[in-house]
Amino acid sequence: MTIFRRGEPGYDENRLGLNRAAGESRPARVVAATGEHDVAAAVRLGAEQGLPVGVMATGHGPAVPADGAVLVNTRRMDGVSVDPAAETAWVQAGARWEQVLERTTPHGLAPLNGSSPDVGAVGYTTGGGAGLLGRRYGFAADHVRRLRLVTADGRLREVTAESEPDLFWAVRGAKDNFGLVVDMEIDLFPIYRLQRRRGGGRAARPAAARAGARAAGHGTQAAVRAGRLDPPRSSRRALCRP
Ligand SMILES: Cc1cc2nc3c(=O)[nH]c(=O)nc-3n(C[C@H](O)[C@H](O)[C@H](O)COP(=O)(O)OP(=O)(O)OC[C@H]3O[C@@H](n4cnc5c(N)ncnc54)[C@H](O)[C@@H]3O)c2cc1C
Repeated sequence: MTIFRRGEPGYDENRLGLNRAAGESRPARVVAATGEHDVAAAVRLGAEQGLPVGVMATGHGPAVPADGAVLVNTRRMDGVSVDPAAETAWVQAGARWEQVLERTTPHGLAPLNGSSPDVGAVGYTTGGGAGLLGRRYGFAADHVRRLRLVTADGRLREVTAESEPDLFWAVRGAKDNFGLVVDMEIDLFPIYRLQRRRGGGRAARPAAARAGARAAGHGTQAAVRAGRLDPPRSSRRALCRP
C-alpha cells in the first residue's frame, strides 16, 4: 500500500480529481489503492488514527471534501470482466464507464451507464445512477447483483440481497456512507444501437423524439435531456452593449 503525506511527491497527483470546481481536498493521507487489501488497510488506518475516511475514483463528484481525512484513491483498481451468458459484468471500484463499455459492447451488451463515459461506474451506481436507458430499465442501483465492500470495522464483506439485505439496500443509494465498495457485479442488457444527437435540433423536442422512436420500430426508446446553456460569448457581448 502506497501512502502519501502532504508535501510528498505523489500527494497532489493522487488527491486531485477531475472536478476541481468541487473544491480541492487536503487529506492527511492519500492511499493509492491497488486492491481490496489496500482499501481495508486504509479504513483500519483511519480508525487507528481517528481520521475520517473518504474515497475517490475519478474526482468527478466528491460530496464532501476529504480535508484531514484518509483519502483512498481507487483509480488503479480498474478491472472489468464480462460474463456474456449470464449478461453480467464484474466492475472494480476505479473503473470508468468507458472501460466497462469497451468490454461489454463486443458482446452486444450494455450497462445502465449515464451521460458521461468518464464517470466512475461504482460512484455512479452507489448514488442511484439515472442513465440513458432509465426509462426502460430504471436506476442502475436496482441492477446490482452483488457488492463487496469494506465497512468501518475494516472488514471486507460480500453483500447480496440474500446475505445482508439491509446493507445491500442501503449501499445502493448511500454512496460511501456504509463502506467503501471494492467491486460489484451488475446486470447488462442487449442493446444494439444507441443514437445521440446534440443541440437544439429535432431530437431536443420530446414529441419529435417520440415520433422518431415510433418510426424506428418496436423496442426503440427515446430519451430527451434538456439543459440551460449560456449564450455564446459573441451574443453575450452584444447583449451587454449600451
Ligand atoms: C459529466 C458528468 C455526467 C454525469 N451524468 C450522470 C448521469 O447521467 N446520471 C447520474 O445518475 N449521475 C451522473 N453524474 C453524477 C455522477 O454519477 C456522480 O457524481 C458520481 O458520484 C461520480 O462518481 P465518480 O466515482 O466518477 O466520482 P468521485 O468524485 O471519484 O466519487 C464521488 C463520490 O462517489 C462515491 N464513491 C466513489 N467511489 C466509491 C466506492 N468505491 N465506494 C463507495 N462510494 C464511492 C463517494 O461518495 C465519492 O465521494 C454525472 C457527473 C458528471 C461529472
